[in-house]
Amino acid sequence: MPEVLVIAEQRDGRPRTVTYELLTAAKLASPDGGVAVLWRGKIPDDGVAGELASRGAVRLLAAEWPELQAYNPEAETEAIALAVQASGAKLVIAAHVSPTRDAVARAAQRFGGGYAADCVDLSRTGGETEWLRPLFAGKATEARRLVSGTAFVTIRPNNLPAAGVSGDAPPTAFERLAPPEGGVPKRVLVREVAARVTEDVDLGEARIVVAGGRGVRGAEGFRPLRELAQALGGAVGASRGACDAGYCDYALQIGQTGKVVTPDLYIACGISGAIQHLAGMSRSRVIVAINTDPDAPIFQVADYGLVGDLFEIVPMLTEEIRKRRE
Ligand code: FAD
Repeated sequence: MPEVLVIAEQRDGRPRTVTYELLTAAKLASPDGGVAVLWRGKIPDDGVAGELASRGAVRLLAAEWPELQAYNPEAETEAIALAVQASGAKLVIAAHVSPTRDAVARAAQRFGGGYAADCVDLSRTGGETEWLRPLFAGKATEARRLVSGTAFVTIRPNNLPAAGVSGDAPPTAFERLAPPEGGVPKRVLVREVAARVTEDVDLGEARIVVAGGRGVRGAEGFRPLRELAQALGGAVGASRGACDAGYCDYALQIGQTGKVVTPDLYIACGISGAIQHLAGMSRSRVIVAINTDPDAPIFQVADYGLVGDLFEIVPMLTEEIRKRRE
């Protein structure tokens, strides 16, 4: 019987990297227990089943229901709850991403066990797992033990290494998970999903983020940032100051009320470093700040600080990176 159920994240029928990070968490939390994986949506090809098995999954469940084609919180919750029952797992690990985290919270409430959201790491001592969660914009860390019932955990992407491939995985195929008897509740009806079409790297998973603040002075001011992000293969983000000023879309907002990112490299351009912004990026591995004000609070969290005009510095960086890539 698998002890852990991992809720896979997918895009275009392929597992997203965070799925492999969740498999790492599952193995760390339950070194001797098996890991089941729940796939929501159309069953992918055998290559994906083999890939998940080679990275630690011993059982693959797929909820291939029409209600899961577009995000539907009730169908998602049902799928997770049925997968918990089918797998017999005592621990459910999912990504702390929208919209999955919504359904995980609903499922956790249904089982009434422990719940730890937005974890960034775990530690094992004496056979017990502690889930580590940042508090107060990363100023403190809470270690939470989940001691009762079926436990639910969500993990922030980009914080754990992806599970590696091991050569000795037995062949595993997806088992279909039947929808609930009587069908999925229909209190929510998704009429249309307006997907944002973009070529850009996904901000939540990007290894490099170039973020702009009110210092970019206008929508046009984001252009050098986009060029730098492109040269680095990264994504563009923003402070709320830049979003509120109408310089960019709110989808780019990083911070307490925006996205939480943990890239390898975060380049903050014209961002003062308000506590609410730090809440969304302070766990980045290396932080570079570019700001004309030497006293800007962003320099207190930066590993490298450049005091100067972003409109001079950013194009110079882009040019240098392009040169080195040639
Ligand atoms: P500013 O504070 O105006 O800073 C602009 C910076 O640009 C300055 O430091 C300036 O020196 C520098 N600058 C100007 N020109 C240049 C130049 N040419 N080159 C280089 N530097 C230059 N904020 C978030 O970001 N994310 C959130 O999720 C968020 N949630 C919030 C939730 C609540 C409840 C509240 C109250 C606030 C929230 N905020 C959030 C807002 C936050 O408090 C700040 O107001 C905001 O982060 C400021 O954005 P900024 O740094 O871009 O702008």
